[in-house]
Amino acid sequence: MANVKTHVEESDILIIGGGMAGTGATFEARHWGRDLKIVCVEKANIDRSGAVAQGLYAINCYMGMQWDENQPEDHVRYARNDLMGMVREDLGYDMARHVDSTVHMFDEWGLPMMKNEKTGRYLREGKWQIMIHGESYKPIVAEAAKKSANKIYNRIMITHLLMDDEKENRIGGAVGFNMRTGDYHVFKAKAVIVAAGGASHIFKPRAVGEGMGRTWYAPWSNGSAYALPIAVGAKMTQMENRIVLCRFKDGYGPVGAYFLHLKTYTQNANGENYEKKWYEQTKSLVGEYIDHHPTPTCLRNHAFIQEVQAGGGPIHMVTKEAFQDPHLETVGWENFLGMTVGQAVVWASQNIDPKYTNPELTTSEPYVMGSHATCSGAWVSGPEDLSPPEYFWGYNRMLTVDGLFGAGDTVGGSAHKFSSGSFTEGRLAAKAAVKYIEDKKADGIKVSDKQFKDLKEVIYKPLENYTVGRNEITGGTVSPSYISPIQGLQRLQRIMDEYVGGIATNYMTNENMLNRGLELLKWLEEDLENVGAEDYHQLMRAWELKHRTITSQCVTEHTKFREETRWPGYYYRGDHLKLDDDNWHCLTVSRRDPKTKKFTMEKVPVYHIVDEKKEKKAS
Ligand SMILES: Cc1cc2nc3c(=O)[nH]c(=O)nc-3n(C[C@H](O)[C@H](O)[C@H](O)COP(=O)(O)OP(=O)(O)OC[C@H]3O[C@@H](n4cnc5c(N)ncnc54)[C@H](O)[C@@H]3O)c2cc1C
Repeated sequence: MANVKTHVEESDILIIGGGMAGTGATFEARHWGRDLKIVCVEKANIDRSGAVAQGLYAINCYMGMQWDENQPEDHVRYARNDLMGMVREDLGYDMARHVDSTVHMFDEWGLPMMKNEKTGRYLREGKWQIMIHGESYKPIVAEAAKKSANKIYNRIMITHLLMDDEKENRIGGAVGFNMRTGDYHVFKAKAVIVAAGGASHIFKPRAVGEGMGRTWYAPWSNGSAYALPIAVGAKMTQMENRIVLCRFKDGYGPVGAYFLHLKTYTQNANGENYEKKWYEQTKSLVGEYIDHHPTPTCLRNHAFIQEVQAGGGPIHMVTKEAFQDPHLETVGWENFLGMTVGQAVVWASQNIDPKYTNPELTTSEPYVMGSHATCSGAWVSGPEDLSPPEYFWGYNRMLTVDGLFGAGDTVGGSAHKFSSGSFTEGRLAAKAAVKYIEDKKADGIKVSDKQFKDLKEVIYKPLENYTVGRNEITGGTVSPSYISPIQGLQRLQRIMDEYVGGIATNYMTNENMLNRGLELLKWLEEDLENVGAEDYHQLMRAWELKHRTITSQCVTEHTKFREETRWPGYYYRGDHLKLDDDNWHCLTVSRRDPKTKKFTMEKVPVYHIVDEKKEKKAS
């Protein structure tokens, strides 16, 4: 590695990932830390990176407190209901009370918002969603971050966090490499905010072969948000709570605007409302949760999955009625233009005009993320004024590693943040990180040259593996001594798919399958020491795969620990098919020992802060 250039950058706050949460953090860090040095590092280019790269058609989290449309308590009730009781209400409330101010800034910065002509308010798509012309959503928030940071580094993938050599369990920065130049980058920092998005492609996707790469969640979200903190021993929560989405088949086009704005509905192949058919069966599994309004997302998935298994598919979205209205027809198509243009192309290729043909829906492969109708992620401190003692250790959104903060998909327990809530959470984390530095908690950090030089050897090893191993290939592409990133990825996806509740088993798993999955993941981890990368792009693929693998181990451990089926429709524990509030009305928390790589699991109480008495009784 002698010819690889090393750059060392010292900063006060380092933000990893310039997506929604990362741009929010970068912007807010400057607001509170006028004289601080703020650096943001992004794997792609922040103008078009992360889950909002293509743009969005709706901001899914806006309270409308100024018009008393909703209050933060309402949002807590909503998220709690949707996640079958399992959320961090302190985090959810904290995000909700600040999210409107974020949206108002987007408006000021030029994001085209749709307005209700009669009321002059933002045009509602649903109770929480407001509609935007959001093709340029990401460049607009990127602009705010660029004006705030001392420096934005694009095209650098962060592979490891650095730790303070002097004080145990304190952060010291991060390292990574530039995918274009191959240069090695060392970022020393007093506080680090991880905002690296969720994880797609850990479960085998429905689209393989000719459609490989077509997934609902951003294909480039590779679980760094989880792997980076897990590797240094940070605690994680609710990692079993993967999400399965009901979406238009093959293109994963969004259905929210269709249900909410176009008032379309679903039916089985015989034109029946199949959800009603599964009411009693679902009630036998989850009890009164099926009577909650709105019906939790996972339970609607459950009815879909059961109906298809019972032979009632394909399931269709009834668009033929709504599309007779020219205005709604336009909205239906524009919805894809702003966000998933590929769905329109798929329909064209399949001769589907939704005005005359009701399009098919499907359930996706599972994804791991913390900002949608799901809340996997890091176990973080909440805000001082709201959090019970078990949820508070000094600084809002700080992980269980000192000086390491998280936001957006990184943070567990706070579902339904979406784009605006993730940006808001980035702001909250940055404000706390500035305070952490001002309180002198980061004084005296030392990161030795040895620490980052050792990591350099580790990071570039896949290039070495390839250079040496390729000489042994006499024909074809299969090497006796290294595996390629794509081979490793496909192996990972099969393990997760077949043992941890993917589409192959109709989302079913059990303790025996999970144990076997863990064994296979262990061996995969060993073999990944021998992953080979032919260039810097493949080096990125190699590290994405390693991050996905650590994330997958954590997901599998959590799934094994929770001995109930809390979210039928997201996954099923065949050996514990019922929801079990007596034993599992709690959050799950894990920690992986960085030295032994062994996970330990614990149950942590779920505190119902809003409507405290009522909820406790219900549980
Ligand atoms: C298909 C889809 C539709 C959605 N629709 C809506 C909607 O209609 N309305 C709405 O409000 N929300 C919507 N969301 C949700 C919203 O996009 C997310 O909640 C939000 O983007 C999460 O923010 P984040 O910063 O955590 O992740 P992201 O915005 O994905 O940002 C993560 C960033 O980290 C970078 N990164 C990753 N790994 C590394 C690494 N190792 N080193 C450096 N950088 C790294 C990535 O490149 C990326 O830029 C949708 C999401 C998806 C996937």
